[in-house]
Amino acid sequence: MKCDTGYLCDVCGQDVAAIIDSDLYLRYILGEVSPLELPRMRERHIRCNPATAQYIVDPAFEPMPCDGIFAKANLDADYVRQQETLVTRAWQRLQQVPTLGVAIPEYALPEVLERWRTEMR
Ligand SMILES: [Zn+2]
Repeated sequence: MKCDTGYLCDVCGQDVAAIIDSDLYLRYILGEVSPLELPRMRERHIRCNPATAQYIVDPAFEPMPCDGIFAKANLDADYVRQQETLVTRAWQRLQQVPTLGVAIPEYALPEVLERWRTEMR
């Protein structure tokens, strides 16, 4: 029997095998999860969190529809555009993480790193 180390998706229960599919690390890059919270948060697949995944606009990412009150169609167009730019940048950075050779604290977007530095002062 395979011993899983606890990186199972909170939504579908399957293994989150690759960091590039991790919603937790995507939100870490976005600054929504702080470095202190990271080890304590539950793992999730990007595609298992449509509320965030709907904002990823990239030819390499099959568009993820989101229903309900958080659906893009129900939100302010300017806000949606901002989120698409931001989340897509974060997703593209996440795809590069395995080849960047940077340490986990450096994963986050530059403006997020800057904010954390200011807050920790
Ligand atoms: Zn999942």
